[in-house]
Amino acid sequence: MAKKKAVINQSKCDNSPFCPVMKICPAKAVERKALLPAEGEAKDEGLLKSLSSFFSLDGAGKKKVAIDASKCTGCGACVPYCPHGAVRMTKEN
Ligand code: SF4
Repeated sequence: MAKKKAVINQSKCDNSPFCPVMKICPAKAVERKALLPAEGEAKDEGLLKSLSSFFSLDGAGKKKVAIDASKCTGCGACVPYCPHGAVRMTKEN
């Protein structure tokens, strides 16, 4: 049977450092992480710029709220806590 997992719709998420979804998750599956190190933090600036342009990422070092599917138990507790309606449950096959 497919297990349910929480997923974030990034077009709705404002990636707030005060995200209530991160606080409510009993499995600590929701984290706010930098996609890439910020400019000035990277050991290889050239590599960072290449990666940023290759993956079309604007604002390297910007943090995104993300759900670690390997930690998510699928309890659904987080869904009503997102003020933007950005979290929904989906089936993982
Ligand atoms: S479904 Fe449950 S375990 Fe998964 S992210 Fe939401 S609160 Fe955490």
